[in-house]
Amino acid sequence: MGTPTGTGESVITVSGLRMRYDDSFEAVRGIDLEVRRGEVFAFLGPNGAGKTTTVEILEGYRRRTAGDVTVLGEDPAHAGPSWRARIGVVLQESRPERDLTVAECLRLYAGYYPSPRGIDETMELVGLVGQADATATRLSGGQRRRLDVALSLIGDPELLFLDEPTTGFDPSARRAAWDMIAGLRSLGVTVFLTTHFMDEAEHLADHVMVISEGRIVAAGPPGTLGGRQRAAAEITFTLPPGASLAALPGPVRDAVSYGTAGTNGTDHVLLRSARPLAVLGPLIAWAEDAGHDLPDLEVRRPSLEDVYLALTEPGADAPPLEPPEAPRHPEAA
Ligand code: ATP
Repeated sequence: MGTPTGTGESVITVSGLRMRYDDSFEAVRGIDLEVRRGEVFAFLGPNGAGKTTTVEILEGYRRRTAGDVTVLGEDPAHAGPSWRARIGVVLQESRPERDLTVAECLRLYAGYYPSPRGIDETMELVGLVGQADATATRLSGGQRRRLDVALSLIGDPELLFLDEPTTGFDPSARRAAWDMIAGLRSLGVTVFLTTHFMDEAEHLADHVMVISEGRIVAAGPPGTLGGRQRAAAEITFTLPPGASLAALPGPVRDAVSYGTAGTNGTDHVLLRSARPLAVLGPLIAWAEDAGHDLPDLEVRRPSLEDVYLALTEPGADAPPLEPPEAPRHPEAA
């Protein structure tokens, strides 16, 4: 993301949160988290990990079994209507009034809030200006979703809960939704995002937290989650015709993880190195000296999805947070 934000006061603090359903199954097993004003916070985890349970507690829709929760300075379990007017909630599926136009719908909802955002401004924010006079039933799936978001924004919330905002979107609608969320962030709205799309989290989030089986298994900025930035890089290329692995310079040979003969007689080489420049330098010098081109040369660090899958695969041990997360004290900002 662009300008760093989210360095200010704490908008959500959770400590030791537990939720036990039916006196038996513990869906949330003692989690701590902090969301700072102005940041996009992505909450990730596989199906059944405890995300919805946690989010519903933060939204004040569900009682908890134990733990301390503060959202916009109040405990959601006891907060009143003035607190609720400061938050926006976009559920996975909502039902706007079917017979009203987009503008009428927004006008109706605006009446529920003490200081609503303007109708035109809200439609512009979500890209629905052209559909102002269309009824909800005439909207496409993506436009309906935008209306859901518009309805959650009409009260001019400080904090927005977005639950899987782009599920079912085509690639261009997803990009438009991302732009919209980035726009909200630049307006200073704090966004608590739940998503199953790692590219979405990577693109939008300032801070990512992964929950698995009711426990937090990793937290941090998307670029460094799970020590990702320190993991060995993978370098791949096809060995030029006539060249052999033995001909490669020493630092490159030492990093060879495998070299295989491809189906068309070419050799695919995979190098692994925690210091990729120390391998790439000699490799490129060797290729230039020998007049080889390496057209498919690629350097790749583990993606957020690679890290996420390793953290959440069944039976994975919850690793220590790596790098260790510094306490997020607002006053230290
Ligand atoms: P998904 O990605 O599928 O939406 P989630 O991470 O949001 O999953 P939750 O909906 O919080 O997961 O569910 C966590 C666990 O709690 C699951 O095992 C689920 O079956 C269980 N659970 C959720 N709601 C209830 C309920 N009302 N009563 C009993 N168990 C529940």
